[in-house]
Amino acid sequence: MDDLGRHLATTMRAAAGLVLPARCAGCGTAGDPWCATCRAGVLGVPTRVRVPGTPCWAAAPLGAPLRSLVTAHKDGGRADSRRVLVPLLATALSTVLVRESGPRRAAALGEPVLVVPVPTRGSARRRRGEDPVAALVRDAVASLGAGGPVFAPVLRHTRPVADQARLGRARRWANLAGAIAVSPSRAALVRGRVCVLADDVVTTGSTLAEAARALRAAGAADVLAVAVGATP
Ligand SMILES: [Zn+2]
Repeated sequence: MDDLGRHLATTMRAAAGLVLPARCAGCGTAGDPWCATCRAGVLGVPTRVRVPGTPCWAAAPLGAPLRSLVTAHKDGGRADSRRVLVPLLATALSTVLVRESGPRRAAALGEPVLVVPVPTRGSARRRRGEDPVAALVRDAVASLGAGGPVFAPVLRHTRPVADQARLGRARRWANLAGAIAVSPSRAALVRGRVCVLADDVVTTGSTLAEAARALRAAGAADVLAVAVGATP
């Protein structure tokens, strides 16, 4: 191997280490990117979450390991966390498709159900490069296979908003009011369709409520929601 070859091999090993760090994204224990204890900690059946106006299902309660995993995925650049998050979100999606009347009706009519990621703030997306929530939703939809729902990233922010995590409950609603809309070029896709909003976590539900309002304003026939985790 020449110098360039050796250099490339070293760089690729380093990059692999960045992609698959041998430290649990849930508890930080060395040796496994997602240890057996944390894996057991997020098992469960999807439950319906109270979000005003929008039926919402979450795959798991947002306990300690799942909260750490979601943060590692969104803010820590741990794309490998998706190995755990994708099947969880897919389970919540499957549940919505089977349990809620809107998606069942669409299936009976042979109409596609759209799965719409909740948009990430522009500044957060620029900082992280890829939009981690959109990537998670895309992979979860893909895991359900052909003939399943359709990944439809149709929402965007219409103005800058503050980081919701830094705001109290009341200010979260004001921060987001009217801040999300369907991209004009995608409006025809949404009209008359059943849409399932998808996010990594749901806390107060204010982001989901604003995203649902935007979809209904664009003529969506029915709006539901799913998340990986919800605050109990
Ligand atoms: Zn762990």
